[in-house]
Amino acid sequence: MPYHSPLLSAIPALAYGFGSKQALMPTALQPYRASSPEKKQVHGTRIVEITHAAQLCGDADGLFTRQPGILLTVLTADCLPVLFSRRDGNAIGVVHAGWRGLLDGILERMAERIAQEEPLEEWVAVIGPAAHACCYQVSDELAGTFLQRLPELPAQQVMPRPRYLDLPGIAAAKLQALGFGAVDNGAPCTICTLNPAADGPRYAFTSFRRNSHRQAADPAHPGIRGRNQYSGLVILP
Ligand SMILES: [Zn+2]
Repeated sequence: MPYHSPLLSAIPALAYGFGSKQALMPTALQPYRASSPEKKQVHGTRIVEITHAAQLCGDADGLFTRQPGILLTVLTADCLPVLFSRRDGNAIGVVHAGWRGLLDGILERMAERIAQEEPLEEWVAVIGPAAHACCYQVSDELAGTFLQRLPELPAQQVMPRPRYLDLPGIAAAKLQALGFGAVDNGAPCTICTLNPAADGPRYAFTSFRRNSHRQAADPAHPGIRGRNQYSGLVILP
């Protein structure tokens, strides 16, 4: 079940896509795969500017480029893939944001990187399929940490019901407050969204949380190694 963002679809200079169980690497991005930089996602806040294809980045949870033909992706399974583009498609970015990255400020780091050169209102930000508040239950301790560290957001927005965090909602509120020109937060939940096709896998997306629950019930159940979704975008060459 591919997710299409109205904001990104309106930029003809781009190809973009959000992976699903049926196409971990979205079809539109497959031709550019070899150009993609090599990075290790570590739930950090480091953003790397990409200047050439297949660039070696080391640890990085965010990428930024003005170069056409270089595919920027992040790998996720419940964490948030956030895609960024100038409205004219002349510069792009991606971020992998889990709860830790959100608290530690990876969206703010990307905003700072962009704002060094141009106003954020020229840019759009799109949050892809991720764990939503319908399913994302956390410990009392983590729930408390979120309320404490995001005092600028209404508690109801951080946590629509006790111990269920709304990570995409938190990200959208942050992106709006930072000054992005438009923010799209219409993607579905990776944990509970079913595959609408009658054949194929039962669920639409790979989910770390759902997989962990199944492994707890059945230790023989396979892990998700190698089955995370790629989400990303490329400035068309
Ligand atoms: Zn859900």
